[in-house]
Amino acid sequence: MSQPPRRSAAATADASQYDIDCRRCARLAAFVDQVHDANPSYFCRPVPPFGDGAARLVIVGLAPGMHGANASGRPFTGDYAGILLYATLFKFGFSTHATSSGVDDGLRLVGARITNAVKCLPPGNKPLPEEIRNCNTYLAAELATLPDGAAVLALGRIAHDATLRALGLAARDYPFLHGRHHALNRGAHLFDSYHCSRYNTNTRRLTTEMFETVFASIVRHLAAASPARPDASRSRAPA
Ligand code: SF4
Repeated sequence: MSQPPRRSAAATADASQYDIDCRRCARLAAFVDQVHDANPSYFCRPVPPFGDGAARLVIVGLAPGMHGANASGRPFTGDYAGILLYATLFKFGFSTHATSSGVDDGLRLVGARITNAVKCLPPGNKPLPEEIRNCNTYLAAELATLPDGAAVLALGRIAHDATLRALGLAARDYPFLHGRHHALNRGAHLFDSYHCSRYNTNTRRLTTEMFETVFASIVRHLAAASPARPDASRSRAPA
């Protein structure tokens, strides 16, 4: 079947980190095609990372949501999951606006980038282990560009494990726990948070206060790793 025309992506990543034409996961490629047939205006491609190409903070989510990133073409944009994330990024000085409404909204991230462990929409938000492994080469290439003293925020256990895999580290040595952070190589730290999904926020498994506490810890880490960090000085959060 020929593929319908689709929107292109304005990616900050190079080809080793992101390929808009990737169809390595046959199940996901077929599912995304099916969703596009039903929703022709949706992006329905691998969703590119979004944000600062020179970021010191990378946020790793799970995968695009059906009517969120898969529709808009920007991570955590278009559905509920991004509301708390973008508000918190703004509060802590990592973005120019508190909301993300679409790829043409003028939003810029400052010193931060958002990516996903799996870049294509999975059925039921559940990627298979081999799909996580397939996409891990892109995440590994992206994380390899991080500077010394960087911070990686993993949203949920799957993102946490995918980040460790991408860094060549064993998950058993760095168990996931909300609020915990782990020292990695070259002064980098991995921060763990529950995913900011609608379910987790509605059930208060993850509250605004809990999420902001994680970000406060990240800002402290980045400031300690480089006291002159410009985006830390723009933080809107209380000291
Ligand atoms: S999930 Fe990743 S590896 Fe799989 S098809 Fe999409 S971009 Fe390619």
